[in-house]
Formats: sequence, C-alpha cells, structure tokens
Amino acid sequence: MCDARAVDPLVVGFIIVQALVLGGAIALAIVRGRAIDRLRELLAARPAEGLGTADLDTVDIEQAVRTLLDRTRTAEWETTQVVRDRGSLLDIIGVGVVRLDDELLVDVANAAAHQFLGRAPGSLIGRSPIEAFIDPTIEGVAQMARETGAASGELTLRRDDGPTLLVRARRSPVRGIWLIMEDVSELRRLQRIRAEFIDNLSHELRTPLTTVSLLAETLVREADGAGEAIPPRMRDRIGKIEVETDHLVQMVEELLDLSRIESGGPMVMLDEVDLRRLALASVERLRLFAERQGVELRTDVPETVPPVRGAEDRLGQVLVNLLHNAVKFSPDGGVVTVRVEPSAKEVVVAVEDHGIGIARPDQARIFERFYKADKARRRGGGTGLGLAIARHVVEVHGGRIKVESEEGRGSTFSFSVPVLVADGT
Ligand code: ADP
Repeated sequence: MCDARAVDPLVVGFIIVQALVLGGAIALAIVRGRAIDRLRELLAARPAEGLGTADLDTVDIEQAVRTLLDRTRTAEWETTQVVRDRGSLLDIIGVGVVRLDDELLVDVANAAAHQFLGRAPGSLIGRSPIEAFIDPTIEGVAQMARETGAASGELTLRRDDGPTLLVRARRSPVRGIWLIMEDVSELRRLQRIRAEFIDNLSHELRTPLTTVSLLAETLVREADGAGEAIPPRMRDRIGKIEVETDHLVQMVEELLDLSRIESGGPMVMLDEVDLRRLALASVERLRLFAERQGVELRTDVPETVPPVRGAEDRLGQVLVNLLHNAVKFSPDGGVVTVRVEPSAKEVVVAVEDHGIGIARPDQARIFERFYKADKARRRGGGTGLGLAIARHVVEVHGGRIKVESEEGRGSTFSFSVPVLVADGT
C-alpha cells in the first residue's frame, strides 16, 4: 500500500534541481547587473580621457557585453512583437488606416484601407496619396495636417459604387501623418433621404398652410369687424388659431430654408460683406421689436472692418436671428450689445445679452434642429431651427459659431468669418 505522506525521491530531486536553477539564475542576474553597474561607474568617472586598461576587469566587461547583447535581443524581439501586434490590431478594426512617411509616401496601410481603396493587399505601400486615393482632395488634407497637425476631408472614390470616405489626418508624434478613413456612404445616403423627405413634406405642407394662415387672418379681421356678434371667447380662439398657424408657416419656411442650405444649394457667396454695416442694419431691423420688449440695443463697432467674402443676406439672417433670440430671452429693461471685433485673419461678431442664459448641458445641443432649452419651451414661440440655420450659414462661410452662457446671467453668441485676403479669394 502506498503511504500518502511518503515523499517520492523523484519529486524531491526535481524540487532541488528547480531550486538550484532558480538560485543560479538569480545569482547570475545579480552578477550581471553588478557588471553593468560597474561599467557605468567606470564610464561616468572617466568621461573625457576614456578608460585606462588598468580599470578594466575583463570578466566584468565580458559579462556586461553579454548582458547588453541579451537585452538588445530581448528588446528586438519585443519590438517585433509590438509591430506584429499593431499590424493585427490595425487589420481587426473596421476603419482604414494609412500612414504617410516624411516624403508623404504610404509606409503603413491596413486591410480596411486596401479594401476601401479597391487595392490588392500590400499594394498601397510606397504610393503617393494621389496614387492611392485617385483624388486630389487628399493631397490638400495631407499637406494641411503636415502644417497644422490636423485636417479632414471627404471624398467619393470614382469607382462603380465607390464609397464615400471621411478622411481624418493627424500628424504623428513620431513620424509622418496618420490618415484614418471611415466609410460614411450609408450615413450620407440616409442623410440625403432624410433631407429629401423633409424637403418634400415641407413643400407639400406649405401651400395648404399658407391658405389656412390667410383664412385665419381674414377671420380675425372679420371677427374684429363683427363687434358684439362674436363672443369674446370665440374671438380669442380665432386669434390663437392665427398665431399658431403663423408659427406653422414659419416653421415650414425655415425647414425648407435649412434643407436648401444643407443640400449645398444655391448660396451665392460673391458679396464683399462689410460686417460693420450689416451689424448696424440688423440692429435697426430689430429696434421696434426690442422697444416692444423693453430691451435696449447697443452697438460696439469700430470705424472700419475688413470685408469678408460671402452671402450678405445669409449673414444678415444669422445676425437678425441672434439678435432676435437675445431680445426674446432678455428681461424687461435688459440690454443687448452687438460687438464687431476684426483681427488679421477674421472678423468676429458677438451678440451679448443678460437674459435667462442657457444651462451647460443645453449649450452643446442648441445648434441642433428643433432643440429648445426647457426654459425657452415654457416661454413658447420659436421653431428651434434658427440656430441650426445660423450654424450652417457660418460654416459654409468657413467660420465658427459658439455660445458662452451662464444660467440666469445671460449669453453671448459669437461667430467668426475669415477676412478676404489680398488676392480676392
Ligand atoms: P428658437 O429661438 O426659434 O426656439 P433657435 O434655434 O434660434 O430657435 O434657438 C434654440 C434654443 O436655444 C432656444 O429655444 C433657446 O432655448 C436657446 N437660446 C437661443 N438663444 C438664446 C439666448 N440668447 N438666451 C437663452 N437661450 C437661448
């Protein structure tokens, strides 16, 4: 019978051998570590005149060199593993990744990039961006990223059913430029369908709504003329029908406007716009509305402002919209100030109010269509489309629109438009 407590001599032998091997390895590592430390000490102590042979201990040196060789081999192996791992990661992810080296030639390209660009695996390496993408847009994107650190562009590849790619370029902190490609064909297709749907629906709604609005207006006039024959409650309801119908007509008009702008429709950008004059004219347009709301309009505008290139009526629309909101959300006795601030590169127009302000979570969303902050909802009126239109108009002009606001203290909406450069572009 076998005694469970009896220890097999084979097992004991095995444990002893393991312990010896481990001990040996530790001792060797300590000795080697010491050898390298010793070499470092010697080099640090005699930097200028070099090492004298008297200082050299051949055993130390040999151990140090061996350790260094070992470490180099390990480092090389680890680097190969990291490169392999990066390669496999790049091939797993669904986005296309290309790196352009310092000469702007492809030196890394993953499987998705080859697939998006319709190339055989590996065939992108060594190509210029234009050879790889067959679209001149990419050259501009790569150059811009090289100069500024980041750029992006969208290109539709000219092949049968070629995808639409969104390309984001970033300068690498190590070398070259990374290009990240996303296939946005489906997204763009759905956006087109949505825009067409809204456009068609708005067109269909416009005619009957305009008729209802005109009829409501006539009804209000007739009710006013009928005197006592129409009871006050009925008159009140007719008045509400007119207000709400007007609201609907305005919403449909703004929806049509937004879909025209979004579809890249005819925004003629040929005017040389003087934003100083436009700001003053917009303030005049809102003067009556502001007076009715008990709000004072002020301007802070320099004598001369460099011209910008764009669509004057559209930029005017942005300004009127910002001013309208600023007055609408100001208290009785409030002040709204319009500032025009030119710099070498751009002209910034800011509209400042001291009204209800906008909570931080809402600030990120108010430029979306139909978005209204809660407080604004309670105030009624407005379609929630004005800022979406404003953002599109400003972006088409190559500018940016933003808001700074504190709830209960007021808001400042500002947009920038690049100034016209000397060659007239
Ligand atoms: P509308 O004013 O027709 O509702 P907008 O797109 O112009 O639509 O504005 C969207 C929302 O942004 C408003 O409903 C309101 O919540 C908020 N907003 C815009 N301007 C201001 C402002 N000056 N002060 C406070 N809230 C504002």
